[in-house]
Amino acid sequence: MARKQLRARKYVYSFGAGKAEGDAGMKNLLGGKGANLAEMCLLGIPVPAGFTVSTECCTDYYAGGCRLPAALSAQVLAALARTEKTMGMKYGDPEKPLLISCRSGARKSMPGMMDTVLNVGLCSATIPGMIAKTGNPRFVWDSYRRLIMMYADVVMEKAEGLEPAEGKGIRKIMDETLDAFKHSRGAKSDTDLSAEDLKALAEGFKQLVEKHLRKPFPDDHMAQLWGGIAAVFKSWNGRKAVSYRRIEGIPDEWGTAVNVQAMVFGNMGDHSATGVAFTRDPAAGDNKFYGEWLVNAQGEDVVAGIRTPSPINDDTKNEQNKHLPSMHELMPATYRELDAIRTKLERHFRDMLDIEFTIQEGKLWMLQCRVGKRTGTAALNMAMDMLGERLIDRKTAVTRVAAHQLDELLHPVVDPKAEREAAPIVKGLPAGPGAACGGLVFTAEDAVAAHRAGRKCILLREETNPEDVEGMRAAVGILTARGGMTSHAALVARGWGKCCIVGAGGLHVDAVGRTARVAGSDVVLKEGDTVTLNGTRGYVYTGSLPMIDSTENPRFQKFMSIADGFRTMGVRANADTPADAGTARAFGAEGIGLFRTEHMFYGEGSDQPLFLLRKMILSSGSAERAGALRELSVFVKRDIKATLQAMEGLPVTIRLLDPPLHEFVPQGAEKQAELAAALGITQEEVRKRGEKLHENNPMMGHRGVRLGITYPEITAMQVRAIFEAAAEIVKAGGKCRPEIMIPVTCDVNELKHQKALCLKVYEEVCKANGVKKIDHMYGTMIEIPRAALLANRMAEEAQFFSFGTNDLTQMGFGFSRDDIGGFLGDYLDKKILSADPFQTIDQDGVGQLIRMAVEKGRSVRSGLKVGICGEQGGDPASVQFCHNSGLSYVSCSPYRVPIARLAAAQAAIASMEAGKNGGRRKPAKRAVGKAAKKTAGR
Ligand code: PEP
Ligand code: MG
Repeated sequence: MARKQLRARKYVYSFGAGKAEGDAGMKNLLGGKGANLAEMCLLGIPVPAGFTVSTECCTDYYAGGCRLPAALSAQVLAALARTEKTMGMKYGDPEKPLLISCRSGARKSMPGMMDTVLNVGLCSATIPGMIAKTGNPRFVWDSYRRLIMMYADVVMEKAEGLEPAEGKGIRKIMDETLDAFKHSRGAKSDTDLSAEDLKALAEGFKQLVEKHLRKPFPDDHMAQLWGGIAAVFKSWNGRKAVSYRRIEGIPDEWGTAVNVQAMVFGNMGDHSATGVAFTRDPAAGDNKFYGEWLVNAQGEDVVAGIRTPSPINDDTKNEQNKHLPSMHELMPATYRELDAIRTKLERHFRDMLDIEFTIQEGKLWMLQCRVGKRTGTAALNMAMDMLGERLIDRKTAVTRVAAHQLDELLHPVVDPKAEREAAPIVKGLPAGPGAACGGLVFTAEDAVAAHRAGRKCILLREETNPEDVEGMRAAVGILTARGGMTSHAALVARGWGKCCIVGAGGLHVDAVGRTARVAGSDVVLKEGDTVTLNGTRGYVYTGSLPMIDSTENPRFQKFMSIADGFRTMGVRANADTPADAGTARAFGAEGIGLFRTEHMFYGEGSDQPLFLLRKMILSSGSAERAGALRELSVFVKRDIKATLQAMEGLPVTIRLLDPPLHEFVPQGAEKQAELAAALGITQEEVRKRGEKLHENNPMMGHRGVRLGITYPEITAMQVRAIFEAAAEIVKAGGKCRPEIMIPVTCDVNELKHQKALCLKVYEEVCKANGVKKIDHMYGTMIEIPRAALLANRMAEEAQFFSFGTNDLTQMGFGFSRDDIGGFLGDYLDKKILSADPFQTIDQDGVGQLIRMAVEKGRSVRSGLKVGICGEQGGDPASVQFCHNSGLSYVSCSPYRVPIARLAAAQAAIASMEAGKNGGRRKPAKRAVGKAAKKTAGR
C-alpha cells in the first residue's frame, strides 16, 4: 500500500500588495498584530510586505525543547522570496538589500512585554549597498547601531537567559556609552550625531558585545534572521511577559506569533517620520483623532519617551507639546491620507483602534492596527457615541465596556470645590482618569513593599518601563516626569483604568536620593510625602485633597439601563444599614441578598446593643437570658425595620445571627467590670464565663444555626423582631418583603427545628397585630459542602438557597479564609492555583457543588429561588458562572452592584450568542417574583 506523504503543518502566512493568507478572524493563530496586518492588506491599506510565523509554531518550539521545527525553514525561505518580490529588494543582497523586522504579537496585546528586533539584515555585505541605494550614510549607520543595541539585548542576552546584575545589562551599558559619546561630541540629541560618529559608535558597540557577551556580533544576514525569530519566541517566557500574563490572566499555552516584515524607515531624514495614534481619544473617549509623531525617528523613540513627541494635529496639542509642529501643519497631504485611513479602519472594525505608522521619504505605511486600550470613561463614552453614530448596535455597546472597568467610573474624583482652592505644584498629561492620593515612592520595589504593608502609594518615576509593571500595579496612582500619552506608563495605566499623570516635566526626579525637585520653586518632594493626583486633568497637589464619586453621570445611567435590557439574572446587594441600602438602590440593586444581623454590634451606635448582646451571651440560665434578649430585641427590631423601610417592598434577606459568640466577649477590664455590675456577678465570674465559650476552631464551632439549636430563644427573638417590624410597616400602609435565612446549616433537621419556631412566632405576631398574613420567605444559606450534597433534602424545607461562597470555599478547600494570605502567593506563583478562590469562584471544584445543589434543590422545588452572597458575587467571571448555572440573582457589596449588573448582561448576551437560550429569556426579576409568590407564607 502506498504510504501517504504527511503534509508538514503550515507555520507561515504571507501578506503584502493587497493580498494575504490570513485575516482579522485568525488572531489565535496569527496573533493580533499578524491577523490585522493581513486584514489591512486586504483593505488595500499600504502595509510593508512580510509574513507571520504562527503561534502554533511557538507552541511547537517550546514542545520541542526550544528548537525551531524542521518544517519551518523551507516555509520561511519561500515567504521571504515572496516578500522580496513584492518589495523589489532582496534580503542579504549587496546592491538592493531588503531589511526586515521581527516583531512579537500574541492573541491579546501585551504592550512592551515581549521583544522586537528592527533593521535585521544589516551586515558588512549589505551596508555599502544600503548607503549607495539611499545616498544617506548617516541613516545607515544610525540603523546599524540600533540593530546592534536591540539584537545584543534581545537575542544575545535575554534570549540566552543571561541575567546580568542591575545596571550591568548590555543595553544599559550601550545607552551609557551613547550618552557619554553624545556628551563628548557636544550633541544634545541623537540627531546631532554625524555618519562618522554613528559608524564609530557601531564599531564600539560591537567591541562591547564581544567583551560582555563573549561572542562576536553576527555578521551574517541569515543568522540574524533565525536569531530574531527564536528570540521573539523566547521572549514569550521572559520575566516581564510572564508577570504581565499573570496579572492579565493570559494562559501560558497561547504562545506568540512572529511577524517578519520589510522595514520601512522613519529615520531617513526630515521627510520621514514615525508615529502612533488612536482613532479616538483613549482617555476621555471623544471622537477626535489623537496621536503623536516624531520626524526622523524610528518607532520605539515615540513610546520610549526619549524625545518629547509632537502632536499629530491641534486636537492633540497640550501644555507640553503645543510649541511643537503638528503633522497636520508639516505634512498636510500625508496627514489627510492618514486621517482617511483612520476613517476607513474605524468603519471596517467598528471600534476605536490604536495604529502605528511610518512615513518613509513622504510615503505613508501602516505598521499596525489593533483595538485600542481605553479608560473606563472612554469605553463608556465611545460605546454610547458609536451607538448614536449607528456604527454598533445596543448589544455590541453593552459588550464594549469591561465590567471591571466600571469600577473606575465609580471611583472618586477630586472634589472640584476643594480643587479650586488648591494650587497644583506641577502639571502633566492626563493619562489615566480619576483621583489618587498616597505617599510617594520612587521605585517599583518600594511600591510593592508599600502595598504589602497596606499603605497607599503614588509611584513617581522619571519614566516607566516594562520592568516597573508590578510596582505600577501596586501603586494607587502613577506619576512620571517624562513621556507622552502613548508612553509606556500611559498605555499600561490606561489598560488598567488606573489614575496616572505622565510627562510632568517640572519634576526633576532623583530616584537614588528618593527626592524630586519642582522646577521654579523651592518645593522638594521626599519619599513618603502625601500627594494627590487629578488624573483627569493632569494636576498634582501636595497633601490630601477631598474626593467625591461620579455616579450621577447621565450617560452612565443610560448605558446601564441598556445593559439591564439584556440581563436575565437579578442583582442584589449585601447591606446591613439603611445607609448601605440607600447606596445599593442608587446603584440599581433589586433587593438585599444578605443583611448580616450581627453588624449592628459593630461600629458607630453599637455600644448599647453590644452591651445587651454581651449580657445575653454571659447569662447563666434561660431566665437571665430571656431578660437580656427582651432588652436586645428593641434594637434588633429597630435596625431591621429601618432597612426594610429603606428597601420599600424589595426583598430583604435577613440572616440570623452567625458568628461564634466568643467574638463578642469583652476582653478589657473596664467592659468586664461594667458587665459584672449589670449581671450582679464578680468580674472574675465574667472572665470565667467568657473562657467557657472559648473554642479551638471557632469557624467550625458554635456558630450559625447551631446557636439557634442550643438557644432557641435567640432565634425566636430575632424572628419576632423581623415579623413585628414587618407587621408595623404593613399596618402603616407600607410594603416589605423579609426573607429569613438560616446560616451554616448541614442537615434538613436543623431547618425543620428552626422552622417550627418561626411558624409559632409568626402566628403569635399575626394574632397580636391583627394581621392575616405577613409576606415572607424561609430559606437557608448553602455554605457547608454537606448541605450542597443534600440540597434536595434541604429544599424540602427551604424556599430559597443563598450560596455563602466565603464559607463554601473555606470548607470546600479546607483553606482558612482568614489565613490564606500566608500561602496564597506561593500557590499562585507556583501555578498550583490560577486565582484566589475567595475572589473568584473556583468553578471546577466549588462550582461543581453549586451546580449540583441548584439541580438537586430544583428537582424537589421547581420554583426554588437561588442566589449567592459570598464576596465572589461582584466578580465578573463569577457572575458569568452564576448566570450559566441558572442562579436567580447575585448579591454583592453596593459599590459592585453596577459591575455585577453589567457582567450579568454580558453573560446573557454571551449565552444568547452561543444559542444556549434560543433567544432572550424572561427577566429574572419576574421569575424571582413568581417563585416568591408560589412559596411565600408557607
Ligand atoms: C459566606 O460565607 O459566603 C457569607 C456570605 O457569610 P459570611 O461571610 O458572613 O460568613
Ligand atoms: Mg458564611
